[in-house]
Amino acid sequence: MTYLSQLHELDISEHPDAFEPVPVVERSMNEYLQARVKTTAGILGIDPGLTAVLLQPERELIVSVPVQMDDGQVEVFEGFRVQHSMARGPAKGGVRFHPEVGLDEIRALAMLMTLKCALVNIPFGGAKGGVRCNPKQLSQRELERLTRQYTLRILPFIGPHLDIPAPDLNTNEQVMAWMMETIRIRDGAAAIASVTGKPVALGGSLGRDHATGKGVAVAALALLGRLQRDPADTTVAIQGFGKVGAATARFLAEAGCHIVALSDLSGDYYAPAGFDVPTLTRYVRDASGHMIDGFNQPGVRTIDDGALLEMPVDLLIPAAMENQITAENADRVRAQLIVEAANAPITEDADTMLAGRGIPVVPDILANAGGVIASHAEWVQNLQSTSWNVERVDCYVASRIEDAFAAVWDLAEEFDLSMRESAYRLAVKRTSEALRLRTGWEPGALSLLNTL
Ligand code: NAD
Repeated sequence: MTYLSQLHELDISEHPDAFEPVPVVERSMNEYLQARVKTTAGILGIDPGLTAVLLQPERELIVSVPVQMDDGQVEVFEGFRVQHSMARGPAKGGVRFHPEVGLDEIRALAMLMTLKCALVNIPFGGAKGGVRCNPKQLSQRELERLTRQYTLRILPFIGPHLDIPAPDLNTNEQVMAWMMETIRIRDGAAAIASVTGKPVALGGSLGRDHATGKGVAVAALALLGRLQRDPADTTVAIQGFGKVGAATARFLAEAGCHIVALSDLSGDYYAPAGFDVPTLTRYVRDASGHMIDGFNQPGVRTIDDGALLEMPVDLLIPAAMENQITAENADRVRAQLIVEAANAPITEDADTMLAGRGIPVVPDILANAGGVIASHAEWVQNLQSTSWNVERVDCYVASRIEDAFAAVWDLAEEFDLSMRESAYRLAVKRTSEALRLRTGWEPGALSLLNTL
């Protein structure tokens, strides 16, 4: 489908009566998303009944997760799995282990997955899960038992065509291998396609480890392309040099950009002539603690903590964590362009301030979707009992991000929207359209929702 036909397919006419500006107040991620989706649906003229369905998760599970600890005592943890929507395909989303996991946050993250998958046009719905625990205080055997018990509790509701978990905060390939093995015991089959983010030796995909960074770099290069800027004349600052930040730096440096500022938990660093990214990546991989600290490329110097966010670079990429650019520091941001690699690195009010200053922001929902695109590639490989080489996975990630970027950019240009508003319009429209087609929902008519 061409971008033009996508645009025509959308009813993007403004409905001033339905418009309800999103007020700038501190609120939870769930409250923020609910308000944004509701407002977007109103602007798009989506039937209020359909919007009400879209705002609620299809299914929420709260499970107890009893674990026998190494000392013989039993501890019961609380676990969650929220399936926001399966309108566009099986639900898809990560599982996090964290002391602050709660239903409200998981609900928001599940809806975000629905929207992200819709925006990059992969046939998945959205889900998210987690267990409230402190994984740093658990032994490896306790972690394994917790993972298997959690999987057993949600087992009737997951599977390759139903809901496909993946790693998230404090979960990894090994956790996915345990989940898959627990599912296999139920199914009696290998269950390869029932989780993604597995070890490559168990059917995981090549390229998954750098896919999010690859997608961020592709989105950044697409932005430069639209603005007719040459990557070779572009200076870049990246906050965070972990899985996403390091891969983003690698792909942007390969495209000719100058990565002049980097930071991690050890500090902020400036290299006026540009970092030697491959050498730094090897250094960080081998360093105890995996930090930039101690890297001694000539010309690299330490700058004040937090100074990276305020450097006069062409492109700023927050790739560390949420809420980094706030009302407090947004006025001091001197970057000309921003690409959100982390989830929600810019607060709502800071977003408004940056928009007021005309600084284009590529939103997280688009820029960091490379990971779930590679997860889709993994699932497709598993279902087809095949494996793709890394070039094919990279190419798949790049093409989905490029297509989504083009659709977002074109819509934003045509209707004078921010890229965030444009991305939400596309995602909400696609999700609600799928929902309408599945349910036969027409205002005032008997629908499948009512008759089933
Ligand atoms: P990670 O733990 O591998 O890396 C995080 C990096 O940020 C580390 O270098 C850490 O030292 C640094 N950091 C943390 N706090 C910092 C601070 N205050 N200032 C500067 N640096 C800081 O995590 P990741 O997987 O690279 O994820 C980074 C972000 O991207 C998170 O917001 C995550 O939710 C988001 N994200 C990740 C993926 C993925 O596939 N890994 C996908 C989508 C979104």
